[in-house]
Amino acid sequence: MFRSFHFEQASNTQYDVCIIGGGITGAGIFLKACEKGLRAIIIDKGDFSSGTSSRSAKMIHGGLRYLQYFQIKMVYEGLHERENLLSLYPHLVKPQPYFMPVYGSWVNKLKFSVGLSGYDALSGKSSMPKHISVPEEEIKKRFKQITHEDLKGGFIYYDARTNDARLTNEVIQQGVELGGTAINYLEAIFFEEEDGEIISLTCKGRLKGWDLEIKAKQYVSATGVWTDELLNKYKPQAKKWMKPSKGIHVVVKGDLLPKDCVLILPTIDGDGRFIWCLPWEENMNVLGTTDTEYNEGLNEIRSTKEEIDYLLDSVNKHLPGRKLTYDDILSTYAGLRPLLADPDPEEEDNDSSSRSRDYEIWWNNDNFVTIAGGKLTSFLSMAETCLNEIIEKHPGKLNPHIFPKPLAPITKSGHPLFASIRDKYGDNVLLIMDIIKENKSYANPIFPKSNYIIAEIIFFIRYQHAVMLDDILTRRTLLSYSMKDWNEDLINIICDIFKEELGWTEEDKVNQIKNYRKNWDLMHSWE
Ligand SMILES: Cc1cc2nc3c(=O)[nH]c(=O)nc-3n(C[C@H](O)[C@H](O)[C@H](O)COP(=O)(O)OP(=O)(O)OC[C@H]3O[C@@H](n4cnc5c(N)ncnc54)[C@H](O)[C@@H]3O)c2cc1C
Repeated sequence: MFRSFHFEQASNTQYDVCIIGGGITGAGIFLKACEKGLRAIIIDKGDFSSGTSSRSAKMIHGGLRYLQYFQIKMVYEGLHERENLLSLYPHLVKPQPYFMPVYGSWVNKLKFSVGLSGYDALSGKSSMPKHISVPEEEIKKRFKQITHEDLKGGFIYYDARTNDARLTNEVIQQGVELGGTAINYLEAIFFEEEDGEIISLTCKGRLKGWDLEIKAKQYVSATGVWTDELLNKYKPQAKKWMKPSKGIHVVVKGDLLPKDCVLILPTIDGDGRFIWCLPWEENMNVLGTTDTEYNEGLNEIRSTKEEIDYLLDSVNKHLPGRKLTYDDILSTYAGLRPLLADPDPEEEDNDSSSRSRDYEIWWNNDNFVTIAGGKLTSFLSMAETCLNEIIEKHPGKLNPHIFPKPLAPITKSGHPLFASIRDKYGDNVLLIMDIIKENKSYANPIFPKSNYIIAEIIFFIRYQHAVMLDDILTRRTLLSYSMKDWNEDLINIICDIFKEELGWTEEDKVNQIKNYRKNWDLMHSWE
């Protein structure tokens, strides 16, 4: 019903702005457009957040390491956005301590100390504590897991962490609440142009029977690493705008690593890079990341054994006791950074980790703009800049039509789960409580001792566009990441909820499981 409502709306509306690409970049522009009272639609060829925006390192940060490349403006912007996001989405963006032991030389220690002081200074009046130096003796007591050989002390500093996919989907939900239209599994395939302006966009439904033609005054491409592919659908392009780099993460059981802070360790290669070990829900820990040039297909990317070994070996080098083995791996995930190619290929720096994470906005014609590059952390300021460009380009053409509804006030509830749900979902707690009111059993865990209750899954289906098994298991929850072995019982439970909510038939269920199995295999097998 929810999906058909959006289709109905889209078939009968002349939009101000049509955003192609429902990763965090498109989601931010969609929300800002809706906030400004514009009629906006966002579409994605897959699930919202299924591209890079569910495959990041989950850090909301300025990016300490970019200081070494003097990308001061970008770090400054990231740190200020971090503060902004901590206050706007406290249930999804949380302060996170990072611990960095320093090995080898005192010069190293001095370098980090200077870098961290600069980071603190750039963050200005932040709600986060400033960095502290941790003496060797304290490290030996507090971080028994890591090697103390050649230790020269260490630092604790603060950044923030998030759940990238959930953040993206919540931002889209916010836009929808303000009157916007959002449709996933809908691919932009053909632009119809008249007198140098696009008059409509033909979209192919990836779920049967859901094709659509969208009419808008202004089109935006926010298609990340697919930017060149989409622009080629508009007009064949000689220029390649994007030069993606690949990054993988390995999810392991959290037992061998610190649970209260991100551990930062130098890599095994001595290539000047660092590995993050980020404590995650359900006693998981995420090791990341790699950064390598990538020239292959953009869909269905998987981790290689070489990449996994690089991460495991780098961490193991610093674990004096039991080492991490393949048996500790719960899952892996691979993503592509939407990095911009250097306009002059001769000048291209082949080391992808030193290439800029900045973004660009450019016009393809008078009513079609592209935004690409950037970081998850900066999505709101990127969106603001992009929309301001659009509005300035068309003075008086995009008139606000819809006026934002006032937000529903948060009311207290005596329900024993209220506080924990609010901590996880912010104001959406009210929607989840309403679902529980329909049927008390919806407050039950989806299986004994699960971190998720049935009402959460229903909430994702009704309010956050989940229509496939993978949408729930991989992007709205973290169940795929902790599912080391194929778990038919769990999958059947989620299918049953879909059956209730969306009327899945037995045939739908079989197809969904087949489809999900392909995605699960990508996370659980390596070349
Ligand atoms: C390994 C790794 C670690 C990272 N870590 C961090 C981090 O810790 N912090 C941080 O701030 N940033 C991080 N980033 C960067 C951040 O994840 C990206 O900058 C951000 O997610 C990009 O979002 P996007 O919306 O531009 O692209 P995407 O999320 O890829 O969205 C583009 C969307 O466009 C859709 N699309 C493509 N073609 C079409 C079409 N024809 N029709 C309809 N839809 C289409 C795709 O399906 C996709 O969903 C990391 C990136 C990687 C790869």
